[in-house]
Amino acid sequence: MRETLTQASYLAASVLFILGLRSLTRPDKARRGMQQAAVGMLLAICGTLINYQIVDYKWIAAGLVIGAIIGYPLGMWVPTTALPQRIAISLSFGALASVLVGVAEYYSVFHGGEGELHSARMAALGFEVLLGSLTVTGALVACGKLQEWLPSKPMTYRGQNFVNFVLFALAIVLLVTVIVRPEMAAPFYAMIALAAVLGVLMVMPIGGADMPVVVALLNSYCGLAAAATGFAIGNSILIICGALDGASGFLLSILMSKAMNRSFANVLFGAFGGETTTTSASGDTLPVRSVSAEDAAIQLAYAQRVIIVPGYGMAVAQAQHQVRELAELVEKRGGEVKYAIHPVAGRMPGHMNVLLAEANVPYDRLYDMDEINGEFAQTDVVLVIGANDVVNPAARDDPRSPIYGMPILDVDRAKSVIVLKRGMATGFAGIDNALFHAPATSMLFGDAKASLTKLVSEVKAA
Ligand code: NAP
Repeated sequence: MRETLTQASYLAASVLFILGLRSLTRPDKARRGMQQAAVGMLLAICGTLINYQIVDYKWIAAGLVIGAIIGYPLGMWVPTTALPQRIAISLSFGALASVLVGVAEYYSVFHGGEGELHSARMAALGFEVLLGSLTVTGALVACGKLQEWLPSKPMTYRGQNFVNFVLFALAIVLLVTVIVRPEMAAPFYAMIALAAVLGVLMVMPIGGADMPVVVALLNSYCGLAAAATGFAIGNSILIICGALDGASGFLLSILMSKAMNRSFANVLFGAFGGETTTTSASGDTLPVRSVSAEDAAIQLAYAQRVIIVPGYGMAVAQAQHQVRELAELVEKRGGEVKYAIHPVAGRMPGHMNVLLAEANVPYDRLYDMDEINGEFAQTDVVLVIGANDVVNPAARDDPRSPIYGMPILDVDRAKSVIVLKRGMATGFAGIDNALFHAPATSMLFGDAKASLTKLVSEVKAA
């Protein structure tokens, strides 16, 4: 009876996870998607807790308390700008759980536990601890780079890729050894240690700029490790969740690389972001036209067609509520306002959508890059809020630019552009932006939230 209940809860949880993922593909259903996934997880936990093999609930209760103590602040207080590093930390925990289960399983078989380690089971277990251990340290380094606890520049040396390849090959040799001779404990533990070192060595040479892609890839590894855990301990929900996680993380990392027009190999082995480049040698000396909030407000107040382009700076300033307020004022005065969303604006896919949804911006005002790019030429004012790389015309026009080929929002084709940022600092890619020097562009310098607050009061007064 208990077993039937457990399996039924796993089945219901799997369906809810799949429905949750499906809902997450649409901004208006995303909240529901998270709720479906959370209920699924609760069912999976309850189904596991009634398992007849549990002999003592003490340790489980301790784990639940510690997990809640760590999870609550991570969920409630980490700002959305720090989401990539928050996800990296969670991945590290998830992967650590896989490694610990794998080690416990291995140890117990040779110390009076049930079952035996035939080749298929040992292969799953070996794969689980190998990927898990690599993910634990890789995700910690990714988190350190994103949070700038570690240098975010790629740390490279000659022959690095070769050394990493040799170490990886060695780890595979150890894996094969333990599959053939499971009773040999030394290669098993050596493989775990080597994988942990590899996790550090593989992420160190990747620049902080590419960490979100790395985090998505590690997410995929973590999923595969969980699926392998499921095979090793005969748990169906782990196999299903792990497969979903593995596939979605991998697809996401490919989509992110594609949106930056970078090959996957270039992200992982290209050490992008090592040097700060400028597209023009005289980038800093080119003229820049700054505008006051009063003048910018007058342009906005009388514009018929306005497009708002949010970027990472809007997330840093947490200015989404002021953006919505300003858009509503322009609309009240008869102007039409649309939002142009670049697929990699911000630091995570969907970053801008989440922030704008939080500020109750209607979903039907949000337009994808391909939908809106043709409209910039007929737009009176484009308001760029803390975006830089995603509106850099060099990506379209300058073959020498490191971001050449990355699709961009064609903001420079609008009649007038107002850029809100604090100074002339470069964006994520570390390159100068000709848009800021273009004759149709005016710069409104200052923190985006403060500038928008001024704009709101000036448009009200206009
Ligand atoms: P960006 O190129 O990183 O530029 C953000 C700009 O915001 C900076 O130039 C900064 O200039 C400004 N800023 C920062 N804080 C601000 C504040 N408080 N108020 C006003 N402005 C502020 O951002 P983006 O255009 O959104 O481009 C995203 C970049 O991230 C792309 O290069 C993309 O490839 C990369 N990326 C994205 C993802 C993803 O999934 N979204 C994943 C990996 C990589 P100041 O300091 O002068 O203010």
